[in-house]
Amino acid sequence: MEKKPFDQLGLSPDILKAVEKMGFEEASPIQTAVIPVALTGKDVIGMSSTGSGKTAAFAIPAIERADPKTRAVQVLILCPTRELAVQVAEETGKLAFFKRGIAGVPIYGGQSYERQFRALHQGVQIVIGTPGRVMDHMERGTLKLDALKIIILDEADRMLDMGFREDIEKILTSVPETRQMLFFSATMPRAIQDLIGRYAKDPAWIKIESVAQNRPQVEQTYFEVDRRSKIEALTRLIDVNDFRYGIIFCSTKIMVDELDEHLHARGYATDRLHGDISQSQRDRVMAKFRERKFEFLVATDVAARGLDVDDLEVVFNFDLPNDAEDYTHRIGRTGRAGRTGQAFTFVSGQEIYKLQSMVRWARLDIRRGRIPSLDEVEEARTNVFFEKIRATLEEKRFRPHDHMIDRLLDQGYASTDICSALIHLLQGGAPGLSAATAPAAAPAPAPVAPPPAAPRAGAKAAPAWVKPRLAAKAHDDGAAPAADVAGSASEEGLAGDEPVVRTRTGREPGKATLFFNVGRKELVTPADLVGKIAGVTRLPAGVVGAIDIHQRHALVDVDEHEADFILKKLAGIRLKGVTLAPARATDGGPR
Ligand code: ADP
Ligand code: MG
Repeated sequence: MEKKPFDQLGLSPDILKAVEKMGFEEASPIQTAVIPVALTGKDVIGMSSTGSGKTAAFAIPAIERADPKTRAVQVLILCPTRELAVQVAEETGKLAFFKRGIAGVPIYGGQSYERQFRALHQGVQIVIGTPGRVMDHMERGTLKLDALKIIILDEADRMLDMGFREDIEKILTSVPETRQMLFFSATMPRAIQDLIGRYAKDPAWIKIESVAQNRPQVEQTYFEVDRRSKIEALTRLIDVNDFRYGIIFCSTKIMVDELDEHLHARGYATDRLHGDISQSQRDRVMAKFRERKFEFLVATDVAARGLDVDDLEVVFNFDLPNDAEDYTHRIGRTGRAGRTGQAFTFVSGQEIYKLQSMVRWARLDIRRGRIPSLDEVEEARTNVFFEKIRATLEEKRFRPHDHMIDRLLDQGYASTDICSALIHLLQGGAPGLSAATAPAAAPAPAPVAPPPAAPRAGAKAAPAWVKPRLAAKAHDDGAAPAADVAGSASEEGLAGDEPVVRTRTGREPGKATLFFNVGRKELVTPADLVGKIAGVTRLPAGVVGAIDIHQRHALVDVDEHEADFILKKLAGIRLKGVTLAPARATDGGPR
């Protein structure tokens, strides 16, 4: 596939400076092929895989052909989603950085018309928007396209999938006849060919086949997992590989919500995206994800469409995608930047046949994997822990505690036993064998470490060896059964999983105890409470400490500095049919 340096494509010094500043070393194949043709004003149909640099392929000629002296919209770029429009606008802005007098604005649903109107009114040359909002502005007369020179359709197939066909046709028929059209699509279904046939004028067809080296390096593995064991399988795979940044795809909104809550409850820093979440909230989630403020994004295909993140360590197909197209789209988000990414796909029951047909159709290179056993998860944790101890010793990153150690040695304990006891405590062990059943008044373990069994908190913060899941059942008998979907895993291949049981044996320092008016009577579990608190507040599940579930109430330890926020947020929220009225608990019980 041919690639050229940018300075051989007939570009202005302003653009060459911009691509240099952006760190692009040479033009990608699609850019090499499209840019010179598009600069002549000819219509272009471009096809290439995700991540091949299509944005610059159309944005560069558009910027070059726009006239900075004319303060009217000359370039219209249509994108399927708001998120994509914003990204294309960002990239276009960077490419136009040194072009004086060229300005662009993204317009999309969810943002106030006022603000967009003001921007349009100031006279921008480039407008990037979703078809719906562009139509709205045209109808209101706030977007005038009489001076339009270039119309660009990015991800045309996705736009049609999303039902924008009518809007697109209306836009295409109401812009000047003389306009140039640049048209990008990953696939060429009938509807797209129709559209091209009717609106493009003698276009140049440029198709870049994704050859192996062009294709993202993704190691693909599938796992046959019983539906109910999926969450358990997922967390084991995350733990064993120590993944810290990935997307987990589900097929439904409900599954996204459930999985997000369950992962939260198990101590993973997650957030979610699906069609029922408001646009502004979605933007926040995506921005946070790009900044790696949390570890795993749980999403549906539609919501994640257009979310352009590179560098994912892993993509999980928690549910099998509908077709090979979606599959490739999903896994294309990992393994960029020359590094190998992982794509893990779960199949249950009959789905194996669907996967097989996808493999044949798209010639997927996918192999079968085995879900790690609990022992392997444990071993992986131990290795990480071992490494941390070694690094700490190596770099002498600790204060000496000679006094305490001398006291223990004086009492006749062996140094190896002292170390073993400390590791036991650090790994979440109970302080003495009888303590797990000790009364609530038992002294808390000395605060030598992060709270022993605290779930994995915010992204990188928590020590990697502390990733136990919270109990999926209450600590004493009469406990509610674990929710089905929590999959406490007695399925084949996933046996031997004892939930970690946490008991309030006294409050940890820095925690406040909250009283919740739900209890065993409502069959509430610790996972329900953590899931609800984390879900509603969006705080990492790590703010929740020990939980005690009683017949009619539950006591929940939370980080003191978040206690008031949690109280405020949870008041009036429903859980297990009860409207919550949380309050601070006085020591020893509810008020
Ligand atoms: P596509 O639209 O084909 O999926 P994008 O235009 O979103 O791909 O580009 C994918 C990524 O590659 C972006 O981060 C972009 O900035 C980067 N990129 C584009 N062109 C080049 C280039 N010539 N050299 C290096 N990186 C590039
Ligand atoms: Mg793109």
